[in-house]
Amino acid sequence: MKNSDNTRNGQTILFSVVALMIILFAVLWMADVHHIIFVKDKSQNAGDAAALAGARWQGTTLNLIGELNLMHAAALAVADFEAVDIITNTQKRLCYTGPMTGVAAAQQAAKLNGMFVNDEYTQFVSEHADVIRNNYGAMIGGETALPEPWPGAWVEYAAMMRAIADDGVAAGIDNAFFFDDPGGAHVLLQIEFYDAVAGRDWCWFFRYHPHLLEEYTGYTWWNALPPPNMRASSSSEFLGLWLTPQPRTFSAIAGIDGVQRGAERLSIDLPEIPVDPEINEIESVWFYYMSGHWGRWSDMAPPFPVDGEVKREYDYAGADSVTRVEAEISRFMSDGGGTDAGDIIVWTGAAKPFGYLDSDGGGAENPTRSHLVLPAFREVRLIPIDASSASSAGSFNLRWRRHCIEHLPIYMNQGPGALPACRYCRQLLTWERPEFRASGAGWLSTNSWQCTITPSGGGGSGGGTRRAH
Ligand SMILES: [Zn+2]
Repeated sequence: MKNSDNTRNGQTILFSVVALMIILFAVLWMADVHHIIFVKDKSQNAGDAAALAGARWQGTTLNLIGELNLMHAAALAVADFEAVDIITNTQKRLCYTGPMTGVAAAQQAAKLNGMFVNDEYTQFVSEHADVIRNNYGAMIGGETALPEPWPGAWVEYAAMMRAIADDGVAAGIDNAFFFDDPGGAHVLLQIEFYDAVAGRDWCWFFRYHPHLLEEYTGYTWWNALPPPNMRASSSSEFLGLWLTPQPRTFSAIAGIDGVQRGAERLSIDLPEIPVDPEINEIESVWFYYMSGHWGRWSDMAPPFPVDGEVKREYDYAGADSVTRVEAEISRFMSDGGGTDAGDIIVWTGAAKPFGYLDSDGGGAENPTRSHLVLPAFREVRLIPIDASSASSAGSFNLRWRRHCIEHLPIYMNQGPGALPACRYCRQLLTWERPEFRASGAGWLSTNSWQCTITPSGGGGSGGGTRRAH
């Protein structure tokens, strides 16, 4: 009797201890979950706010450049060539200062929403300021290495970049277009290659590099990595507006539908015929939308990832603002994984300025219809990341950049033995194993028909899963 009581007590105690431990674990786990959700919400708000702030400045800048196009016409009509020069120079500068102000505004928005300065992002922007000054601005035979949009542009642009870094970068611009990005395609510079290796996505090889699995022999097989392909654009690398200066005559501009209406709205006196008929023959520089970038969403492949139709007046890609924020999570319970990614939440927000021109009939017209920039932008909206101009790697995926810039040259020279610990290098090691490639080739030899079937349901959004959220 006593014995069995003791046993029962023992069991009760044991049970209580186990129950207590389960409760303790549950409490800690719930605390972690709540904490993760909190950090995720906070990052999402901060990332979206930063993207919207950037897009707002893009819209404002586009409107200013559009208004200056109209003032240019008015000045030219009265043969005020000095004013025309000032206006064109202001527009050229606005293509850089406007977006860079947007970058600064995005930092403020991220910080106000609780994001801290990211030391790695800050260092990257600071180093890029040096690249602009030393590489783009390097003097070769009296000319800068990259042609300047106006004299002294690279020094001024480097100073803007430096100022952003000095304030501390909390939101990275993930759709940056760097003037020294390597041009030309190389499989090793495609982040999708590493994803395909990691996920054993043999269909990716079937679709894009059908013979690679069989033909590859070892790291010396690869073509050399392409050198930096230096090419400048008429607008800033961060939050670029994708505009282009184009020579046109007064009569070509005055004949564009919407120019007179736009001038009236701004109370700009724009005569239909210039004071001197010879002015009609002179070409001067106006700011136009770059057609390759401001195309219709509905014509893009893949098309705009939204169900239903995009309103006609909103059906254009072009300038957008994509920002990445990172927040660290300190966990109560360690998962023991010790990976570099597990405890960081990354959120990428995307936003875009929108607007329309009033049509003759009182309706709304696509602002890019005539290609000439006119003031049209009235609002900013969040857009799906897959509809944005950010590449799947993201400009501020610094681990990826480091892999491309630092690790790949080591691999190309010395092979996989010398690779550092990095998630992309890990995939290279997998790729180097002959049995890995053989298993892919083997699977494809009988199953490649599966790759030609488009996945049903969620296929479109599934493509975006490797994006930062
Ligand atoms: Zn690497």
